[in-house]
Amino acid sequence: MIIKFREGTKKQDIDFLKNHLTGLGFEIHENAGEDYMLFSVLGDTSRFDVNSLYAFKYVDNVVRIQEPFKKVSRKFKADDTIVDVGGVKIGGNEVVLLAGPCAVESAEQIDLVAGQIKAAGARILRAGAYKPRTSPYSFQGLEKEGLALLKQVREKYQLPVASEIMSTEDLPAFLEFVDLIQVGARNMQNFALLKELGKIDRPILLKRGMANTIEEWLMSAEYILAGGNPNVILCERGIRTFETSTRATLDISSIPVLKALTHLPVIVDPSHASGRWEYIESLSKAAIAAGADGLMIEVHPDPEKALSDGQQSLKPERFADLAKKCRLVAVAVGRKLK
Ligand code: PEP
Ligand code: MN
Repeated sequence: MIIKFREGTKKQDIDFLKNHLTGLGFEIHENAGEDYMLFSVLGDTSRFDVNSLYAFKYVDNVVRIQEPFKKVSRKFKADDTIVDVGGVKIGGNEVVLLAGPCAVESAEQIDLVAGQIKAAGARILRAGAYKPRTSPYSFQGLEKEGLALLKQVREKYQLPVASEIMSTEDLPAFLEFVDLIQVGARNMQNFALLKELGKIDRPILLKRGMANTIEEWLMSAEYILAGGNPNVILCERGIRTFETSTRATLDISSIPVLKALTHLPVIVDPSHASGRWEYIESLSKAAIAAGADGLMIEVHPDPEKALSDGQQSLKPERFADLAKKCRLVAVAVGRKLK
């Protein structure tokens, strides 16, 4: 970290800050020019709030050199992390498809769609039992009953399942069988939830908050790793921009940026990003070409009758067609897709 002092800062103030930082364990190198004075501060700043230095009235500017995250950083671990989700490996050479309805709606619906997505090549079934809906009057999910239905199809089709957790209260029920515990965009900075998820070793799918920077997202992942759970998969699901023709704007650039900054696997959810079924194929192909380790796609046996997100859900036959096209893109970029 570099600290620049305001012009005319008194020696006693400079010495005061030097003692303060040395007391915190940092090593200080002074660099004085004709009309400026800088400190180069050496040491681990990941536990230090650089903005707190602006409390000193003679501090003009502070530049952080080191990233604020540590365990999620590629500098900490150079090799890609591969997360094992009920036997399916995410983060290796294979691009993995996760698919299923927005929500579990009935025994018939989840049974039918599980068979359909598996036949098309999906390796993990996604479906929400607890739904974070914008309106309290919208369908909220089947909750406990939804989890019980998911458990049945998981066994019948031998498919690992991913489902969203909204409260720490539900964690024991999720730990019974949910192979990949999803933290939705709206809970990306629910730090109480992240801390609890750090205490277990079950894989976590951490979605990007709709108005969060990559750094904030990685800091949320850091909470889980810092707690002791290394099994985190990041999911880009689009961010809020001024554009209104899609539900969110898929930030394709986050894929190469994350690949440079972190060793964690990165998957993409083109369904919530676009909000429209007709755009999903293009975004899926783009995501694989850009280096995504997987895709999470909403599929419903009858989207017109879906209780949530029908407008962005693919019919099973369209999903099967998309899987074929994505396979070609994966091979073209030197990867595999089963
Ligand atoms: C979901 O995947 O079901 C979901 C609600 O997505 P997000 O949290 O990205 O909005
Ligand atoms: Mn949805």
